[in-house]
Order: sequence, then structure tokens, then C-alpha cells
Amino acid sequence: MPLICPQCGKSGLYLETGGVMGNIYRCKNCTYIGNFVIESDDDDFSEELEAGRRAQLGK
Ligand SMILES: [Zn+2]
Repeated sequence: MPLICPQCGKSGLYLETGGVMGNIYRCKNCTYIGNFVIESDDDDFSEELEAGRRAQLGK
């Protein structure tokens, strides 16, 4: 299952480092570095992220 960047919504994360602190991923498409990633069959999650942002702004 592809790993999706939670910042830009694109697949293209690669494992930066792993160890006792957990796996740290880096995104090829933006500046995201972190241990939180989205796992999805959809390799372009940007529309879903955008919909989520709009939903939050609409509150
Ligand atoms: Zn990204």
C-alpha cells in the first residue's frame, strides 16, 4: 500500500531513518519530514486533503 504525504497528499515518501524513535519519512514533493504518513490505495491524496481543509474552514 503506498505511503501518502499528509502535507501535500502525494505518494513519494521514502524512509529517512528508522530506529527506536520510530520510522521517519521524508517527502520528495514537499518539505515534509515526520513519522505520520497516510496509507492509501489512492496514490494522489491531495483532493481528499483539500476537501478536509475546506471542511475545517467551513466551521
Ligand atoms: Zn509532501
